[in-house]
Amino acid sequence: MALVYGEALMKHHLSDQHPLQPIRVKLTMDLIRSTGLIEHCELLPPRLATDQELELVHSPEYVDLVRKLSDPAQRRKLSHGRIEAAGFGSADNPISNELHEGTALVVGATLVAAQAIESGRALHAFSPSGGLHHAHRERASGFCTYDDPAVACRWLKNQGHRVAYIDVDVHHGDGVEGIFYSDPDVLTISLHESGRYLFPGSGFPEDAGIGSARGAAANLPFSPFTWDDPWLEGFDKVVPALLRKFRPTVLVTQDGCDTHYLDPLAHLAATTRIWPHVGRTFHELAHELCEGRWLALGGGGYAIYEVVPRAWTLFFAEMVERPDLAADINDPSTVVPDEAAQERVWLSLKQDLRRLGEAHDMDFG
Ligand SMILES: [Zn+2]
Ligand SMILES: [Zn+2]
Repeated sequence: MALVYGEALMKHHLSDQHPLQPIRVKLTMDLIRSTGLIEHCELLPPRLATDQELELVHSPEYVDLVRKLSDPAQRRKLSHGRIEAAGFGSADNPISNELHEGTALVVGATLVAAQAIESGRALHAFSPSGGLHHAHRERASGFCTYDDPAVACRWLKNQGHRVAYIDVDVHHGDGVEGIFYSDPDVLTISLHESGRYLFPGSGFPEDAGIGSARGAAANLPFSPFTWDDPWLEGFDKVVPALLRKFRPTVLVTQDGCDTHYLDPLAHLAATTRIWPHVGRTFHELAHELCEGRWLALGGGGYAIYEVVPRAWTLFFAEMVERPDLAADINDPSTVVPDEAAQERVWLSLKQDLRRLGEAHDMDFG
């Protein structure tokens, strides 16, 4: 089991007011240390991704633009239109001097984890700073500049793998899905709050891939106020069945924890109590289908102090099979909305599972 982290990742800092603060990964590391879980893994340092690696999914022009944006002297020569077209200069994706290096380091960290698995150094690997799933081939979006999950999936595919990417972040994993939407060798599954209510506004059950990749993308949206029980029911009905049908040789999971009821950017009502189950299920499926190969990434999570360190430590405890060491930090109870909201949540889950079944010729009922 490998865990990739180093203080250099604090460079992945977009601005002082930005919700994506690297301290959330550091706080997670602190909790993984103080629970003693750190003793059960090998800690590996991150490295910078090379341009060639970034260009596994991004265009050379885009990588060049990000590099120039990160240099104050070069930045002045770029036209406002070009900067805006590439998704930069907004509150979500501010420009800074660390932009290129900070995010290339996140991609490098995720690749260190992927390579540890591929070389046999580790069966499972966790890159908690990774999971930047909204970046597109030529455009930054939703706090994401370079798409580390997509780079890792493409790299693993190039090693000969059939890759299954499962994204449980509260936001649709649109960047990764878009990059592999016509690739039959990479399955993308995203469970998220419905695009009717939340950024990026996409990811409906009918969106299932195109051409020979029809069926290699799957989306399960959730209604606002979805709490632990319906969330877990959707997860259990969809994830194992799709994976067993696809037969991957490696799992890549994006484990954003912004599904929590305290998260300030979304409207689901899950607690940290979903995390031991999510971690255990991925772990079992990795052994059942992929000889154990499992690359886990972080992702969203903006209740930096209240939620993120606990959610990811509970998840990590399942990766190293020591849930006992994290049991005390779980939320003490679930948070259930009133009856009218419960009915709405169950009804829309039922409808979306039916629509997903129709899109995939499967029965998720
Ligand atoms: Zn294992
Ligand atoms: Zn998110």
